[in-house]
Amino acid sequence: MKLSHRITNLTEGGSDGWDVFYRARRMISEGQAITELTIGEHDIGTDPVILDAMDASARGGHTGYAMVPGTDLLRDTVAARVQIRTGVKTTRDNVLITPGGQAALFAAHIAVCNPGDTGLFLDPYYATYPGTIRAAGAIARPVQTHAMDAFQPRESEIERFAGGAVSLLINTPNNPTGVVYSQDTLNAVANVCKNRDLWLVSDEVYDTQVWEGNHLSPRALPDMAERTLVVGSMSKSHAMTGSRCGWIIGPEEVVEHLINLATNTTYGVPGFIQDAASFALNSGHKLEEKIAEPFRRRRSLAMQVLGGQQTVGLIPAQGAMYLMLDIQATGLTGDSFANALLDSHKIAVMPGESFGMAAAGHIRVAMTIADEKLVSALQTICDFAAQLAENRGAG
Ligand code: PMP
Repeated sequence: MKLSHRITNLTEGGSDGWDVFYRARRMISEGQAITELTIGEHDIGTDPVILDAMDASARGGHTGYAMVPGTDLLRDTVAARVQIRTGVKTTRDNVLITPGGQAALFAAHIAVCNPGDTGLFLDPYYATYPGTIRAAGAIARPVQTHAMDAFQPRESEIERFAGGAVSLLINTPNNPTGVVYSQDTLNAVANVCKNRDLWLVSDEVYDTQVWEGNHLSPRALPDMAERTLVVGSMSKSHAMTGSRCGWIIGPEEVVEHLINLATNTTYGVPGFIQDAASFALNSGHKLEEKIAEPFRRRRSLAMQVLGGQQTVGLIPAQGAMYLMLDIQATGLTGDSFANALLDSHKIAVMPGESFGMAAAGHIRVAMTIADEKLVSALQTICDFAAQLAENRGAG
């Protein structure tokens, strides 16, 4: 029986750059002690106070079908939060609650791309981006960013690839680079969107993890609210990855259509999860800061280790839970370096190439293990890189 092109073309086939990750998982299952710095998940679970709220809601009876667009309480809470942070008038009619940011990314592209249309995304990129655009029936077209620009996209480069495209997907604070887009960058992005009549899909799931500068939402830029769909999530801000709770913010008429999509796909998000999310968002900054704090601390520690050596370069670590390290001085690709590091030192990192060719010659380190272990792993990575660079010089 034949399957649809839509599903068979989701991944492009061949090596997907996750070989190191799966090899590390295999080694762990064989009983080897591997230092795991690959995946972007907190090393803590959801806070007990949030779990208590979830439990109380479920036991209070909120276990049936919930309102498909989201509960009024959560939609109002998200709208108020966005309005306070951006100054853009936002009501519950601008908000659809989704099962996580991933479902929001998919819904956003279904809303703006016709089958066969082209959706732009920036390289390096979060692993699911091209597949998500293809899942919506569109063609996923990468636009390169450059290490020399700290991976801030250039207006000219987006312009160059914008011909025939209908949407542009951006992500700030960025996974995998850890970069936070500047006001200039976002102005440039907004210019291209307006000049080329593109929808902007703005993935802001790391908006509470900013270590340098401020998170700016491009929806707040002049004339952008009408063409921007913002993707948000409880996953990173409140360590609720498994709860699958996120949202899209957009113009009312888009949200109306997205509600129809939700009715015919997800049928909403469990009520007790939404109540837990409302509780968490209404608990104020302290809870969010508690969850972001370990990454802020580890990022400072990492900068100390990296500051004491010359071989490994650090892309400005301004936000999110990742460090993007330049290992080109070793002469290896990110992929060969990551494989060699796993074999010789039992440390698993993601090759930059897993996130697109723009990050070739880099590795991504997730700051998701205890401080001392992270410091020690980074020291080992630097020593290993220095040794490789020295051997290269000698050879
Ligand atoms: N966007 C980015 C950039 C991410 O890193 C992730 C998760 N790693 C997501 C979206 C999706 O997150 P979730 O579906 O858990 O909200």
